[in-house]
Amino acid sequence: MKTEKKKFSIEISGEFFCQGMEMTGKNPGKTLVVTAGVHGREYVGIQTLFTFAEDILREEINGRLILIPVVNEEGFYQGSRQIVPADGINLNRAFPGDIHGTRTWRLAAALETCLYPKADFLLDLHGGDDNEMAMPFVYFSACAGTGVTEASRRAASSLSVSVRTASSARNGLYSQAAQQGIPSLLLERGGGGLWSAEEIKECKKNIRELMVHLGMIQEDEKGESKTWKNKRNIARKDKETEAGKEQREILHTEYLKFPADGIWYPSVTAGQHLKAGDIIGELYRMDGELIHRYKAKQAGIVLYYTTASGVRAGDGLAAIGKLESHLPLKEREGTP
Ligand SMILES: [Zn+2]
Repeated sequence: MKTEKKKFSIEISGEFFCQGMEMTGKNPGKTLVVTAGVHGREYVGIQTLFTFAEDILREEINGRLILIPVVNEEGFYQGSRQIVPADGINLNRAFPGDIHGTRTWRLAAALETCLYPKADFLLDLHGGDDNEMAMPFVYFSACAGTGVTEASRRAASSLSVSVRTASSARNGLYSQAAQQGIPSLLLERGGGGLWSAEEIKECKKNIRELMVHLGMIQEDEKGESKTWKNKRNIARKDKETEAGKEQREILHTEYLKFPADGIWYPSVTAGQHLKAGDIIGELYRMDGELIHRYKAKQAGIVLYYTTASGVRAGDGLAAIGKLESHLPLKEREGTP
């Protein structure tokens, strides 16, 4: 083995929450924390981390890689949608945590205490829940300090996903890390309570691209991250283009919610480009009466949408991102 592996537990005041693996290379370098399973049914990230450790053990890495495949273990085993079953709270709305709060708040506190002090960078893997479908895209925090936001944004641009999205959230695992000065990203892929070998392959590729960006590994021997790099290098030769040009940025996302309980008929798919006026879907009452026909207010891309037939008032309906024209990245500021 070229890299050493050690198991550890996330626990605080004698209370156990979840387990992780710490892989330390022979050479010094950054510490990258990668988490999944904050939401227990978002399987692409979870399944990716179950096998990623074995891949990395065969390689030489600089620094340290910390993996937690299932942050919310009870939610995973019970198949809970979005929440920690003990108290029904969404962990990704519970940061900063509270050691004196209910189980979810204590879990958040334990994660902060055990992970944040070690992390030079944090990547949290998500996807659509079993009632949603998401296109592959990456969130970065737009409301951390300038250096942290720009470092996160530059890291996002190193991943071979077509869209990076600015987020104003502050109370999730990755967004709170950003608030506390740790560059971080949230990667979305898949949904519907499903996962596939192809999605796992793509997700692993993204983690490797981030590790290359952080100087933890060399370019992928299989050439997978090279393909994207080569594309970028070719683009750099063209004076009219800039780094990150292949990836589009979203600064404004419309998060639609259902106004009433109803029966939902979506007309879109994840990743679909919409023009202003295109129909997103229709919501009906049980008696067949139309409650509302949703149309895109402006051109955008469907980042994720709800696939469920029965929906409740207040549930998320879809997220439609407005694609910006290509924005330059600041080359030096805040490099992690
Ligand atoms: Zn999630």
